[in-house]
Amino acid sequence: MPRSPRRHKLAMISLGCAKNEVDAERILGAAAESGWIVCGNPADADVVVVNTCAFIAAAKSESLGAIHEALALKAAGQCRAVVVAGCMAQRYARELRRELPGVDAWVGLADPRQLPTVAAAVLEDRPDPPVIRLRPLPKDFGDEGPRLRVTPKHYAYLRIAEGCDNCCAYCAIPLIRGPLRSKPLEVCLGEARQLAADGCRELILIAQDTTNYGLDLYGHRSLPMLLDQLAAVDELRWIRVLYSHPAHFDDATVEAFASTPKLCHYVDIPIQHASDPVLERMGRHTTREAMAGLVERLRAQIPDVVLRTTVLVGYPGETEEDFAALVEFLQWAEFDRLGAFVYSEEEGTPAATEEPIVPEGVRAVRHDEVMHRQQAIAFRKTAARVGSATEVVLDRRLAGSTFAGRSYAEAPDVDGVIRVAGRRMKAGQFLEVEITRADGYDLEARGRGKTPRRKDRHGPAT
Ligand code: SF4
Repeated sequence: MPRSPRRHKLAMISLGCAKNEVDAERILGAAAESGWIVCGNPADADVVVVNTCAFIAAAKSESLGAIHEALALKAAGQCRAVVVAGCMAQRYARELRRELPGVDAWVGLADPRQLPTVAAAVLEDRPDPPVIRLRPLPKDFGDEGPRLRVTPKHYAYLRIAEGCDNCCAYCAIPLIRGPLRSKPLEVCLGEARQLAADGCRELILIAQDTTNYGLDLYGHRSLPMLLDQLAAVDELRWIRVLYSHPAHFDDATVEAFASTPKLCHYVDIPIQHASDPVLERMGRHTTREAMAGLVERLRAQIPDVVLRTTVLVGYPGETEEDFAALVEFLQWAEFDRLGAFVYSEEEGTPAATEEPIVPEGVRAVRHDEVMHRQQAIAFRKTAARVGSATEVVLDRRLAGSTFAGRSYAEAPDVDGVIRVAGRRMKAGQFLEVEITRADGYDLEARGRGKTPRRKDRHGPAT
């Protein structure tokens, strides 16, 4: 008889983006539901699950590092089995199982909820060779089942779609996560209500491309419609949208951002590049001019909008002129937040065979130049907020009576924080603060009191 999974402990090391974090929460939810004890310390667990990311080379090497760490625990007798899940398992399980024979099971993305069953079987049977569970990805994307949330109670990610149809030439995500499958509107709404009932006050919408939401289900881009309905969920206070595609951010979406109650005036539009020839080869279906128009429209219609973007430097064939065009655009647009990635060849993508390749040293220099220039923009913008008032939510206590908070202008994990000093505060609380000091990407503030709950709050209370 197999031993009851109730006696086993499972710990998770999750890497990558918020989309992967939701998968981690689903795996943990399934584990808790089937009786596993979920523990925070891998060294205390029977099974360590490594939920991997395979977005770019740096993410893959971070994932490999985490797998090796888990295997070292197993070798030292501190855990009994290692299971690898997530994008890397989905894409590379067959190759990697030879390189990493100590991994007991590889579980792909089709059904992470099966992972606890696989883990229980592994503990019982010690299979050799390791289990590989890679089923075809489901054709639609509905209810994801119970989640054991790893975010603080007051905010949660709502994944509104899975997969992507955009097929940007450099990106392996469509190969890993499949085509776009939107979550039906009523399922999104039900999940949002459930999360709100569980204490969530800030709902963060994610997908590979949130602006394409609904295209597969309803025949048209439906993010504005979804936002309108989510705003009616009473307990929610802020709604934030991440990962929008500039080519799909149409006038209706701009209007929705300007007018939907509770929607944070925070627009995350990864532009990736700003040189037209590079944008075309990347398959981004937009131009410098169109993106400049979007930035102008957003700023004209939403004066307090905060813009976040990401760029990819060193794409094959990126010339000095292309790079100069990117830098010029970034200097012009002055994004409030920016992340830069160095291009890496991903097998199976059209870009992987494109030439000429930009030498790695040049890619690194370009990355550093973008980040260096952006730092000056970001620090100036942060400093300009000193003396203003804004509403923040307190995420966690840092020390004594100081908390790490965020306003509508900061998304969790990717942006800076606002360190708030005050009395009688607690995590999850919304309050008005006055910004007193800038510290690089971060800010300091002092509390001015609880904010009244207003349904029509969009941005800062300045
Ligand atoms: S929009 Fe492009 S970069 Fe983003 S996930 Fe889809 S294919 Fe990849």
